[in-house]
Amino acid sequence: MVTDKVVFNIFRFNPDNDKKPYFQEFEIPFIRKDLTVLEGLYHIQERLDNSLAFRSSCRAAVCGSCAMHINGKYRLACNTLVSKLKSDTITIRPLSHMSIHKDLFVDMKPFWEKYEHIKPYLIPGKSTPTTGEQIQSPDERTKIDVLIDCILCACCHSSCPITASHEKYLGPMALLNMDRFLSDTRDGARQERLAIVNDEHGVWRCHTVFNCQEVCPKDLNPSGSIAHLKMEIVKNKIS
Ligand code: SF4
Repeated sequence: MVTDKVVFNIFRFNPDNDKKPYFQEFEIPFIRKDLTVLEGLYHIQERLDNSLAFRSSCRAAVCGSCAMHINGKYRLACNTLVSKLKSDTITIRPLSHMSIHKDLFVDMKPFWEKYEHIKPYLIPGKSTPTTGEQIQSPDERTKIDVLIDCILCACCHSSCPITASHEKYLGPMALLNMDRFLSDTRDGARQERLAIVNDEHGVWRCHTVFNCQEVCPKDLNPSGSIAHLKMEIVKNKIS
């Protein structure tokens, strides 16, 4: 890898002006070993072409805003080191299965609709106390420890071949988050939740390709959550 510069080859498309998408190369100085892809994008936006559009916010792999396709894999731009990519050229495309607003900035409305559909909040059950705190034991809390780490970045959504071909499929992010609420002892809507994911757009659409698991920047396992939901549907005799 050349040590003093790196080329960013970036997907560009402005639906207001461009007939079709194209790639544009920018040369940026590779001055630090810990230069991230996001810092490279900011360098371009601030010094070379201020029309470049992309999303970012926390810069700490917490908000999930800067997910994009970088050198063959969906990743977060903020925690992807240019040096780790071991290439003189970094090719960057937007997330897939969503329409392009501009360049790397996509319309995430369909993604958020799927999240909304699984009711991402605790629903009280018949035995839920109406006053005071709902206490969980350490063991009960451990069951959701990993699941709550989802940062809603959409890397899994974009890498899923079923999401690509079946627009209404809930997809790995929504199903993992359904598992998160189903596994929470404070939630009282087990039957309702399982019925939501048991329909034609739910868990049975998954072909267990494992792309979601491979790309998740938080090392989560949406495939495992989908398998868990399937078992719960059978166990609870949901029809
Ligand atoms: Fe992102 Fe992983 Fe959550 Fe999917 S499961 S939205 S890849 S953090």
